[in-house]
Amino acid sequence: MERLIAKGCILRPRPQRKTDCGNEELSDHRVTGLLPAGASGQSSRMGMTLLNQDLTTGIDYDLEALRNKYDQERDRRVSRRSTGKGQYVGTGGKFEAYSKDPWAERADRPPVQEHTSVIVAGGGFGGLLVGARLNEAGFDDVRVIEIGGDFGGTWYWNRYPGAMCDIEAHIYLPLLEELDYAPKHRYSYEPEMFEHSQRIGKAYGLYDKALFQTAITNAEWREDEQRWRIETDRDDVLTADYFILACGRQSLPKLPNLPGIDIFTPHTFHSSRWDYDYTGGDFSGNMTNLTDKRVGIIGTGATAVQIVPEVAQWAKELVVFQRTPSSVGVRGNRETPRDYVDMSKPGWQRERRNNFQAHILGLRPDTDLVGDGWTEVLDTLIPETPEDIERRLGRIPSRDERLLLAELNDNAVMNTLRARIEEMIDDPDTAEALKPWYRWWCKRPCFHDDYLAAFNRDNVTLVDTQGQGVEGFTENAVVVGGEEHQVDCLIFATGFESGIEYTHLTGFEITGRAGTPLSQHWSEGVRTLHGMSTDGFPNMFIVGGNVQTVNAVNAVQLLDEQAQHIAYILDTAQKRNLVAVEPTTTSVDEYVNLIHSSEKNKENLEFYIKCTPGYYNAEGTAKRSEDTFFGGRYGDGALAFYDMLDHWRKAQTLDGFALTPSPDGNSAEQ
Ligand code: NDP
Repeated sequence: MERLIAKGCILRPRPQRKTDCGNEELSDHRVTGLLPAGASGQSSRMGMTLLNQDLTTGIDYDLEALRNKYDQERDRRVSRRSTGKGQYVGTGGKFEAYSKDPWAERADRPPVQEHTSVIVAGGGFGGLLVGARLNEAGFDDVRVIEIGGDFGGTWYWNRYPGAMCDIEAHIYLPLLEELDYAPKHRYSYEPEMFEHSQRIGKAYGLYDKALFQTAITNAEWREDEQRWRIETDRDDVLTADYFILACGRQSLPKLPNLPGIDIFTPHTFHSSRWDYDYTGGDFSGNMTNLTDKRVGIIGTGATAVQIVPEVAQWAKELVVFQRTPSSVGVRGNRETPRDYVDMSKPGWQRERRNNFQAHILGLRPDTDLVGDGWTEVLDTLIPETPEDIERRLGRIPSRDERLLLAELNDNAVMNTLRARIEEMIDDPDTAEALKPWYRWWCKRPCFHDDYLAAFNRDNVTLVDTQGQGVEGFTENAVVVGGEEHQVDCLIFATGFESGIEYTHLTGFEITGRAGTPLSQHWSEGVRTLHGMSTDGFPNMFIVGGNVQTVNAVNAVQLLDEQAQHIAYILDTAQKRNLVAVEPTTTSVDEYVNLIHSSEKNKENLEFYIKCTPGYYNAEGTAKRSEDTFFGGRYGDGALAFYDMLDHWRKAQTLDGFALTPSPDGNSAEQ
């Protein structure tokens, strides 16, 4: 296995595991790309407390200098135009062309007026999982409503060359065990994930009732009918007993809201709506139309990291406009034979997912089934348990000491990643510009085998905007620091709107009991029970990584746990002949209080406030935990959350829910 930390320094004894880093490997690379010890002057190091000196003994870089460097890099990024969400504009109104579906012609169809048991908003992995789990529970009339022309969500839209998922396919792809499907690569490419989405749709009969190329425009609870009424932009008027939101959390493309964007004439498109008519070729490359073109890419996030090496192979010139470099670890993708994972044991996928999640939580189980950059970094990043630290230091660590240990571990990881850049990049200035100076979790961590090497090509130029970003456009050029960069084509790899307000993410209002809109119900903050339902909105459930659930690197595990949970509730409601289920105000209040009192959320907020801006910290403006991308979560972590849901289901009491029996009074079970 390729080891990301093969040359890193780990400042604590680690459990004896096969993947452990030998001491002799800690030698010279520890100083490569680091600030030399003493660079910040003697006085700051002298200022450390005695206890901290214990913990920092043995590090061979200047901790204070590194901290100062991180602060400087963040501060230069916090410029007049580069913070806050207002720097972006959505792809509505005059920018609507950027969100047009390149993959399907709009097909006419008559409006539908029909009742189904369930309507699911969104046909990505979340909606598919809900449909599948409900189908398993006996619901055979689930209607998925989806804006795209097919199932797939993220993997329907994002067909840019090189698109893949950097979470191991065997834990990421849904329902592998149920469908007995073995992924072809360790990290799946987009075509396989799109095809798998279709496989799920077919296997669980979800195509029958699905309405594609259809946007919900209004959703309303009808008290008199005890059901939901849903309207769409196709003039459909639909009703359902249950309404489930599976709208994703980053599905709406966004553009930089910069001067001149509307007068810029070169060809442009957003990464999630790749224009193969313009570039030529397809997902696997062959973009022959670019061989005489100067192509620009704005953005160096997880998407651009995958696009850059592909375009570099075809464009006459590629200019990458960088504001903040990503951290890029080893990927190590490869084909996976059918027996790559033993898929014969019932429950293997859940076990593998839980094992991965345990590493993500820093629990360091003895085995590392996935064994990749994620598990390796997280095993390094999170300090040992307080008990282990006590055994090592001879005392219980204070909170500050624990945070210091986390920082030192983080430095070890980031130093290694910066050293990797120095090793790989030929030009020292480019290498310097590509180095990320922030803590690992400040930005979406990336892993890729070809991204960095692309900058060694003669036809690739990195325009480092020194944290300031592209400042605007002329008619035919991108402007950075007053300098014009002419391009024939510009690709916006500038990401997606990421918010917590469902009205924003869904694009339609949802009206609950007594005519209360969800936007009003949540105007003082999101309120849910378990992140999946809210009081006053009967028979409505939410699937996705919204607030009040958990941080899960493998988002699909969270989606599946939620889908199973919701399927259980609906199944139980059917069996007990209930017409409506909704969480009580008391149970929602209690759950929200639990979230708000979480120490973990407070720690996370402290962490993100110090980070360089990005969507993780509301572009540098986060003030409350809920403002951060990972904020307002169940503090004990994903595995505890899944366990809690499991116990709740096993109790079979629908605890915390108000139950409305059917007027016929026949309650099947109690
Ligand atoms: P991101 O929001 O992560 O990145 C947007 C990029 O645009 C950033 O590099 C940002 O810079 C840059 N940018 C914005 N404005 C300017 C400007 N004025 N000048 C220069 N640069 C600018 O979007 P992505 O599409 O890359 O990724 C979105 C999410 O999708 C990821 O975070 C990840 O969760 C998911 N994803 C997952 C993948 C996977 O393998 N699982 C693959 C791809 C995406 P700055 O950083 O300074 O803000």
